[in-house]
Amino acid sequence: MNLPPQLEAKFQTLENRYPVKRSALIPMLLYAQDQLGYVSDDMIGEIARRLGLNTLQVTETMAYYSMLRRQRAGKYHVQVCTNVSCMLRGGNNLYEFVQKKLEIGHKQTTADGVFSLEEVECLGACTGAPAMQVNYDFYENLTTERATQIFEALEAGRKPGTSAPISGSVKPRHPAEVPVISRLFGVKDSHKLDVYVAHDGYKGMERALKELTPDQVIEEVKKSNLRGRGGAGFPTGMKWSFVPKESAKPKYILCNADESEPGTCKDRPLMEMMPHQLIEGIVIAGRAVGSHQGYIYIRGEYRYVLDIMDGAIAEAYKAGYLGRNILGSGFDFDLVTHTGAGAYECGEESALMESLEGKRGYPRIRPPFPAVVGLYGSPTVINNVETLSSAPEILRRGGEWYAGIGSPKNGGTRLFCISGHVNKPGIYELPMGFSLRQMIEDVAGGMLNGKKLKAVIPGGSSCPLLTADEIDVAMDYDSVAKAGSMLGSGGLVVIDEDTCMVDLARRIMHFYAHESCGWCIPCREGTGWLRKMLDRFHAGGARAEDIPMVSELAKNMLGKTFCPLGDAAAMPIISIAKKWRHEFEQHLSGKCPYKPADVLAAVR
Ligand code: SF4
Repeated sequence: MNLPPQLEAKFQTLENRYPVKRSALIPMLLYAQDQLGYVSDDMIGEIARRLGLNTLQVTETMAYYSMLRRQRAGKYHVQVCTNVSCMLRGGNNLYEFVQKKLEIGHKQTTADGVFSLEEVECLGACTGAPAMQVNYDFYENLTTERATQIFEALEAGRKPGTSAPISGSVKPRHPAEVPVISRLFGVKDSHKLDVYVAHDGYKGMERALKELTPDQVIEEVKKSNLRGRGGAGFPTGMKWSFVPKESAKPKYILCNADESEPGTCKDRPLMEMMPHQLIEGIVIAGRAVGSHQGYIYIRGEYRYVLDIMDGAIAEAYKAGYLGRNILGSGFDFDLVTHTGAGAYECGEESALMESLEGKRGYPRIRPPFPAVVGLYGSPTVINNVETLSSAPEILRRGGEWYAGIGSPKNGGTRLFCISGHVNKPGIYELPMGFSLRQMIEDVAGGMLNGKKLKAVIPGGSSCPLLTADEIDVAMDYDSVAKAGSMLGSGGLVVIDEDTCMVDLARRIMHFYAHESCGWCIPCREGTGWLRKMLDRFHAGGARAEDIPMVSELAKNMLGKTFCPLGDAAAMPIISIAKKWRHEFEQHLSGKCPYKPADVLAAVR
């Protein structure tokens, strides 16, 4: 098959990038689709031939990833997010508006082939809700007027101004912020090497490579009390120490940049504005465990971020911060990016490794854990972007300094994404242990339109919800757990008094039912049944006996699945059914007592 030259060059790079050829499968499919609008039968044959696979292996893998299409999309593929943060700020109204404007529905294309439309799950723009993507361009804080302007520009063949990169719209800092990993947000050209180096960039890595032994690097990270920012909060230094010192196989550092937890959008600005900080953190992790190869797995929707990361990696190679004999230290390290293609489940560490190996993102049974048997069956450290971005300043300024910023056993700062019904949604870097009440009432500017607070999701949509009476809590792993929830991904979603909690539960369950990989019965069937029950509740067709059944169903999923998605789906629903049971009872009258707020109209 003759490919366009640019695609041919990309394919050749990808074919030589990985120790196992199949790893190139998902990026090749996505790049082919970018070029041709879909993945054709011929293209499947071509990719299979190049990677030594059969076409069935390609098609069955491809079917797992929601961004990959067998049908041609429009010239402009419009994706409107209606997940919780967007829903609270008018995402449903926006979706309805776009449907009317384009006169097409979900997964349809206009007759002239110019537009196609999809209602999608979280795009990673929660603090800029409501949001949509057109091809890979982000459009945020949308009103109907703004959406109209965007479509008019596209129809006229013009490119409307986008909301990304975010660097152009960084807000002034709140005085309570302690900028460590976000210290260059808003600084001109902060993604460039010379700017990063001028702000003490790569000094932590230099110390790790030239002054410390690998064990001392791990000790420094242990002293810092840095805990994994992906959600579980496992101590990072301890995780690194689990990697065997001697290994016949190569060891890998795998950066999880697949942030897809609804309510969470902080890895995106971290990579966009400080890509060198992440590179530095990855090399430090490599030094600590004796690894010489790293991968950054970036969610497919973040294409412009991937381009920025690739640019930064090229700069780092050129200046000797990556490659052979880094800074004359004798240490070698290679790093590449890898694109995902739309699957929340790939944020789970073992599913991510499967995906990077070119397969469906099914989780692996553990033990063995990735530190011993990970990517390509080799010892692997897997950390998320925020965790690895924290390592450079820990190494430069010392673990004790970092630990001193946070609360006991919860070192440092956290990037909190605050979205939903607040006056100043945004991404704020605050010390671990900062008061949740102060975050809402002060940092995020208080409740939107002077409404009362009803509920908070404290750390992404998989966390149990807190009521307005439960927000006097310090935002660190232990205190939030004591309050009956989780710090999770640091994605706070603030919910006002006018919100229907049954509708919110319904939307959350639609997400998990959509994202369940279907491997375990309690997750596959449980999320499906709950989705149907909550739909019925919200539509006014529920019976009194359905109220305890919702809780029972969700409780029966807890702890009975291979990966945490089953629990993640169940926990928010259990808390909503318990704390807002009266709203379920109200729905038994046959109609929802809460009118969905027309936030788009309100903003307008
Ligand atoms: Fe798949 Fe759900 Fe089981 Fe996780 S819990 S492995 S997502 S079916």
